[in-house]
Amino acid sequence: MKETSIRAGELQFAYAKKYFEEFLSSRPRLKEKIMEVETPSLLMDLDGVKSRYVQIKYHLPEVNVYYAVKANDHIDVLRALSEVGSGFEVASIQELERVLSLGVPSEKIISSNPVKPEEFVAFAYEKGVNRFAVDSYAEVDKIARVAPRARVYVRIVVPNEGSEWPLSRKFGVDEETALSLLEYAKEKGLVPIGVTFHVGSQCNNLRNWFIAIRNSSRLWERARGRGLRLQVLNMGGGIPVRYVQESLKIEDIAYYVRGLLRKYFPTPPYELQMEPGRGIVGDQGVLVAKVIGKAGRGDEMWLYVDTGVFNGLAEALGGIRYPVYVEREGELKEWVIGGVSCDSMDVIAKRVYLPEPEVGDRIYFLSAGAYTTVYASEFNGFPKPKITAL
Ligand SMILES: *Cc1c(COP(=O)(O)O)cnc(C)c1O
Repeated sequence: MKETSIRAGELQFAYAKKYFEEFLSSRPRLKEKIMEVETPSLLMDLDGVKSRYVQIKYHLPEVNVYYAVKANDHIDVLRALSEVGSGFEVASIQELERVLSLGVPSEKIISSNPVKPEEFVAFAYEKGVNRFAVDSYAEVDKIARVAPRARVYVRIVVPNEGSEWPLSRKFGVDEETALSLLEYAKEKGLVPIGVTFHVGSQCNNLRNWFIAIRNSSRLWERARGRGLRLQVLNMGGGIPVRYVQESLKIEDIAYYVRGLLRKYFPTPPYELQMEPGRGIVGDQGVLVAKVIGKAGRGDEMWLYVDTGVFNGLAEALGGIRYPVYVEREGELKEWVIGGVSCDSMDVIAKRVYLPEPEVGDRIYFLSAGAYTTVYASEFNGFPKPKITAL
């Protein structure tokens, strides 16, 4: 191993160790569980989830938070958030039913996926959900068909540079199209209420919020010029959490966003919204797995674990790098971490520095609270991680 990679490896392992120890020392209830739970299991800290919500509200008191349920739809997570007053952003009948089962009023639920199944829109409207995103004429037609008089907000395209999980190719329209969609919605009997955007998931680039808010304000003014009085600015998700690297802090994003709002929305919208998913649950969960094998392959050393990209760690394929920790000491070695299935794509991480574990040791994937269990399948007959939420 080259000298520089050893030093990088030492830093990497020290960071993971510190993260792991801090996570548990502030969460004594999870301490025993982490040694007891069957593997693979996702251990979620519900107080931590609540405090992330409270933290966002503290720094952005004028913003209504609608938690994006797709990030982690476990019922205990949703209940914890409803207890502290969160709203919810849903995209499917199942997500909506789950949120409604907790007694959340329909006024606290919105649906911002720009292209929705018609059955879902009809079901949601019947349950009292009345706010839907659009970014196409076909969607306006659909909503007008099954949810007449519903309120709609238009999704504009914004840069997603520096976001780990860009979303802007799939959704969003330019200003001209946005304007004409809002007018078209009105013609169709719907109520055009606002603008939305998504800066990209795990967004570590403040500039994306700048462009998005500036462009929203331009659209807002042009809509006013055409007699449309918009009321809602929905700033989507994108709040990042730490993985192998630190991320932007919520207080810094909030400070910056509030400055932009003062400048570009001097007369504040009637309602400001955000839809964080990852930013609320991402760093409040640890995926506990087990080492099931070791092997040398050429000059690489491989660790095999009882989870994988098909059972929860799908985002590893898109570049998310979870801090990985084992409770061993000794010389650090460089590992490739392979998932449990027979598929050659099932590789969780490369260049992970760990002391050598034994087969049977627990291995911890930190910051695994978002987009893990919700993605999991039982491919190759291996179970999805169980969830213990405390
Ligand atoms: C996925 C999604 C979110 C949440 O995004 P995060 O990056 O996890 O905060 C918010 N809004 C919409 C419309 C989404 O599709």
